[in-house]
This record gives sequence, structure tokens and C-alpha cells, in this order.
Amino acid sequence: MTARIIDGKAVARKLRAEYAERIAGLKTHYGVLPGIAVILVGENPASEVYVRNKIAACKDTGIHSELYRLPADTPEATLMARIDALNADPAVHGILVQLPLPPQISLPDVLERIAPDKDVDGFHLYNVGGLVTGNTVFPPCTPFGVQKLLEHEKVEIEGRNVVVVGASNIVGKPMALMLMQQDATVCICHKKTRDLGQFTLLADILVVAAGVPGLIVPQMVKTGAVVIDVGINRLPDGRLVGDVDFEGVRKKASMITPVPGGVGPMTITMLLHNTLVSAERAISAGR
Ligand code: NAD
Repeated sequence: MTARIIDGKAVARKLRAEYAERIAGLKTHYGVLPGIAVILVGENPASEVYVRNKIAACKDTGIHSELYRLPADTPEATLMARIDALNADPAVHGILVQLPLPPQISLPDVLERIAPDKDVDGFHLYNVGGLVTGNTVFPPCTPFGVQKLLEHEKVEIEGRNVVVVGASNIVGKPMALMLMQQDATVCICHKKTRDLGQFTLLADILVVAAGVPGLIVPQMVKTGAVVIDVGINRLPDGRLVGDVDFEGVRKKASMITPVPGGVGPMTITMLLHNTLVSAERAISAGR
């Protein structure tokens, strides 16, 4: 068997075109321009790239973006005051604080300060709680992107065995909850899991988000499984790879995402989606 390669770039392009139309419609019918505020604290080079890509994607899709740069030694109170001002600004539908934050700032406190109605990253406890009960407003972007890819590829979820490798708050845990909500039987593995392969072998759908290159080899994959590789790892020779041995596993899986070009392009696309939905909700609520 040779897996069909899921083209995340193509799916992202298609969805972005749909969102651009909806955004143009909001402007025409309601005079509303969806807006996102991005706060970047410090000068982490990776964060600079992520923020640049997010802002470029917003521009391409017709979302207004504002970037607030704060120095690395910014006191927490200054950041909180900025968030408060953005919470109160009706032109801002989404607030994104780029992570990681410098050590003097408490991440949980910052995430709770963002109004749940503008929490387009989906990290506020209100939205995390919504994942548990199945009525979240803003699902977190990376697992949401995986869910959209599976939907686009018409992968049946109900009653299937899903194994998620990785249990972080931003990828693994929400991913597991989202697929459980779609009636999959879900197992979460992490770095303390003993004999990872005995679990991954049960997976009809295997989602890997560990940050360990080459973690998943063909012997750990069931023939015909759908394999979604969320990992992004930079090798010493400069190559970008996922967590799955792509060349080996593609001979066993029925579908597989490449790295780059699989899940990556979907993450920012879901940020655009959540910002659009936030603007639509604000219009419905008369805000
Ligand atoms: P994290 O470091 O917060 O969490 C990693 C998780 O993997 C932990 O739960 C840990 O227990 C588990 N893990 C680590 N080693 C393991 C092992 N040997 N066996 C089983 N489990 C193991 O990372 P994260 O933020 O969840 O990101 C995971 C990966 O996904 C990283 O490579 C990251 O770059 C990538 N990522 C990609 C996107 C995207 O848009 N494609 C977005 C976010 C993260």
C-alpha cells in the first residue's frame, strides 16, 4: 500500500478563499471589517516569523491586523493593561498573545485576561471547558486544522480508534477531546507511555504531536491507518521534518500528511476562521 498524501496547502488555500468571500460579505452587508490584535513580547526569532506569517495571511484574506510590540522586560501589568484596552475595543474581534512569554509574565493569568469572546487562539479556560462539553466557541487552531483536514478528506471518525501521541494543552489534549466529541474511541500517549507501539498499532487514525523526529516508524503503524503528523522539527542539516518516518510509514498508511505542507498551513487558516467567526458573532450580538 502507498498512502495518498494529504495536501494541507491546497486545503488551506481553498478554505482561505471561502473565508475571504465571507469577510468581503461582512464589509458589504454590515460595514464590518474583522480585526485581530497581535501582541508580541520580546524578540524571539521564531515568534517573529510566526507573527509575520499570521499578519500576512490576515492581509491576504481581508482581515485587519494590528501588531503591538512590547519589550522583553515589559511588566505583567503593562501587558494586562494592553489586553484590557483591546478587550474593550469593538474594532478588535480577536486577540492573540504570541507565545512563549518572558518569565516575569504568568501565562495562565494572561490567557484568562483575554475576553473569551475574543479568544481566537482558544486557550482561555472558558473555551477549554467548551471542548470538554462539546460546545466550544473557538477551538484551538492546530487541532482544529487537523479536524478540518480529516473532514476535507472525508475520513470517517465515528467509532474509529484514534491514538494521539502528545498531550500538550495546545495540541494533544484538545485534539483528543475534539475527536472524542465526534464519537471516536480515543487514547492519548505521552512521554511516560510505556511501549508506545502497542498503542499506536491500534490506531485507525494516528495523530502525532510530540516534537520528536522519527518517533513513529512503520512497525508502529497499522496497515491502512490515516497518519497525521503535527510535529515540526529542524534537523542539524537544516531540513524540516515531522515526528513520523514519512518515507517508511507512507508505504503502510492509507493517507498521510507531509511536513512541511500538511498540518502547518492549516493552523493559520483556522486563526483566520476563528477571527471571522468572532466578527460574525459580534454582529449577531449587536456589539
Ligand atoms: P510540547 O512539547 O508542549 O508537548 C509534547 C508532547 O509530546 C508532551 O505531551 C510529551 O509528553 C509528548 N512526548 C514527548 N516525547 C515523547 C515520546 N518520545 N513519546 C511519546 N510522547 C512524547 O509540544 P507541542 O506544543 O504540543 O508541539 C508538538 C509538536 O508539534 C512540536 O514538534 C511542535 O513544533 C509541533 N507543532 C506544530 C504546529 C503546526 O502548526 N503544525 C503547531 C503547534 C505545534
